[in-house]
Amino acid sequence: MKRSKLRPRSKKTQKLYQQKNGRREFVSFMLRRFRICQASLDVCTGASSDVHEIVPRSAGGKIVPEFDFTQPRPKADLDAMLATQWLSLCRACHHFITFNPKFAKENGYKKRI
Ligand SMILES: [Zn+2]
Repeated sequence: MKRSKLRPRSKKTQKLYQQKNGRREFVSFMLRRFRICQASLDVCTGASSDVHEIVPRSAGGKIVPEFDFTQPRPKADLDAMLATQWLSLCRACHHFITFNPKFAKENGYKKRI
């Protein structure tokens, strides 16, 4: 029987990744801006590699800012805007936060809108 592969991302999500200032550019921006993991848990390996969404996608969290993150702003302002929803993390901290939801909630790594 011929089987067609599942599309790894929907067309809509794919567009969100590839468009100007989309997810791909945003992740690259975040990892350059915060080179060191922003969680720094006991398991931390140091260099950031993932962008974590504090409000999960399933809870309506955005994977890309609705504001223009490339627009020049005072550093503290932009950092505060980013910190409401996204963190650059190392894979180990990201994994720990993802698989320990209680810990994540208690420590502000997971929120609902
Ligand atoms: Zn880490």
